[in-house]
Amino acid sequence: MTTERDLRIAVLPGDGIGPEVMTPCLELIARLDQQFGGLGLRFDHCDAGAGCYRKQGVAIPDDSLQLASNADAILLGAMGLPEVRYPDGREIAPQLDLRESLELYAGLRPVRSLPGLPAVLADPRAQELDLVLVRESTEGLFAARGRSEQRGDEAVLDTLVITRRVSERLFDFAFNLARQRKAAGSQGRVTCIDKANVLGAFAFFRKIFFERAERYPDIEADCAYVDAMGLHLLQRPWSFDVLVTENMFGDILSDVGAALMGGMGMAPSADLGDDHAVFQPCHGSAPDIAGQGKANPTAMLLSAALMLKWLGERHHRNALSSAGQQLEAAIATVFATGRYIPYEQGGDAGTHAIVAAVAEALEAQNPASLAAGAPA
Ligand code: ATP
Repeated sequence: MTTERDLRIAVLPGDGIGPEVMTPCLELIARLDQQFGGLGLRFDHCDAGAGCYRKQGVAIPDDSLQLASNADAILLGAMGLPEVRYPDGREIAPQLDLRESLELYAGLRPVRSLPGLPAVLADPRAQELDLVLVRESTEGLFAARGRSEQRGDEAVLDTLVITRRVSERLFDFAFNLARQRKAAGSQGRVTCIDKANVLGAFAFFRKIFFERAERYPDIEADCAYVDAMGLHLLQRPWSFDVLVTENMFGDILSDVGAALMGGMGMAPSADLGDDHAVFQPCHGSAPDIAGQGKANPTAMLLSAALMLKWLGERHHRNALSSAGQQLEAAIATVFATGRYIPYEQGGDAGTHAIVAAVAEALEAQNPASLAAGAPA
């Protein structure tokens, strides 16, 4: 009999509300571990972020980087504080460094509405949103980070980088995702978002998109300019399936996606590469609410659920996939009651209340369905 090795998770709680949402998230994973009779996960806690930079002069120390690079997955809270900056004025952001160094080119940002929360848009179709934004996360305009060309005090030039190698992988990822979603009932469509009418780099991006689209004849491929997409996402977000875009545009549009779900605290993400993956809420460290118990932990919990499902699929471990599904289902159950409205949506449900309700919902889940997901 072969025993499965434990999968290693590098945990980087980070700054501000990062640790406030990470701690209860790990407690819920521990609860799932118990319910499933062991999920085969090992957690290594790593120091990184603005607090770390303040203490040690480095945003992500070598030992943390080593643990993260060797991990099967990285679970991240939030990093950065407005007052902690590099000498050139940029905020420290080791999460962006990780995306580049681990080649996490596909930033997955699901936009799914959860029934029971206040409506963001009046149209009832907005209550059933299910689209995914795929944000390229290693190049684009962010490639200029730390490499600005300063021309005295007269001008600063930041260069937008689009490469064929990364774009092809990105588009293949988006088309395969649309194919998977189509099998589960979605439209089977990928929309490329760019500014191809103005910039050569985006014309190139769009050209590669349609070249790759030819390999996926079962998936519809179309495109839109980013400014028009800003409008469409507010007027008819339900009409989209998979959106794929450049790094900076993805950064901006994923916050629009978060707003469509009710706020930053609702939006999970996964930054995926061929060999590594980081799972973290879309939000930052939210210093304006840190330490008040008001942080919505949902984005963190949904990111952890994405991680469990991704690990389950990658390592063929059904218990992990089921645990991720159970966690998502428990979150949906809690909000469906209509009794938990997070602070950011005008309610009074703080971190503790939401986590306690999710724990209770997990407890109440049918033991028979848990057994079905248990390892053979
Ligand atoms: P970054 O640039 O690092 O992504 P940011 O500067 O865009 O971060 P956030 O830290 O994400 O900003 O905060 C934006 C707003 O959303 C703030 O008002 C913050 O309080 C709110 N916010 C962010 N996350 C949460 C959360 N989990 N729960 C409640 N409110 C949140």
